[in-house]
Amino acid sequence: ALDAAFFARWMTAMAGAVDREADRLTELDSAIGDADHGGNMRRGFDAVREELREDLPATPGAVLMTAGRKLVSTVGGASGPLYGTLLRRTGKALGDARSVGREELAGALRTGVDAVTQLGGAAAGDKTMLDALLPAVEALEGNGGKDFGAARAAAGQGAEATIPLQARKGRASYLGERSIGHQDPGATSSALLLAALAEADE
Ligand code: ADP
Ligand code: MG
Ligand code: MG
Repeated sequence: ALDAAFFARWMTAMAGAVDREADRLTELDSAIGDADHGGNMRRGFDAVREELREDLPATPGAVLMTAGRKLVSTVGGASGPLYGTLLRRTGKALGDARSVGREELAGALRTGVDAVTQLGGAAAGDKTMLDALLPAVEALEGNGGKDFGAARAAAGQGAEATIPLQARKGRASYLGERSIGHQDPGATSSALLLAALAEADE
């Protein structure tokens, strides 16, 4: 079973991944956005890491809700509320158990991803973070939450598959056809989130 310490390791691994990949995320966002995605994610997950270091909540649900609230309060733009919603709603779905099963995590992540869809109004193929999150959750549900590596691979493939797509949501959609040929920054950071989940499990 997965306890609060595991979820803190996930968030900390994500902060490390974002630190390493911030320049790349900003580069991708400079092609089809406003060149702030690396900075946004870094500011947010640095704050999450700091908060969890100071005071680790007792339950998995509380770790993710704390992280989500921190993202909402520190990250502006589209990605702050979207990632904040993902983590808060996933955390809420986990309830107040001190440890959760892998299958429960898969189900809770589905709830979180559904909430992102509701908030942002985007669907699969719109060239957003959902193009990494949706296939990852599908993979996780398919293996009962047992294989985080499969979710990481699905998210990575989903992010790469945004390259030929035309953006239909968010800032990149203003570019119309000119958004084609570039990987979506948010799908790329979502792939990092799933890679961090697999890393926390090693
Ligand atoms: P902003 O566009 O406000 O500068 P960021 O650069 O931090 O915010 O994040 C941009 C990313 O947010 C996009 O690459 C995309 O993946 C994601 N995004 C934008 N709008 C939506 C939406 N409506 N639904 C889902 N994801 C979205
Ligand atoms: Mg941006
Ligand atoms: Mg911005």
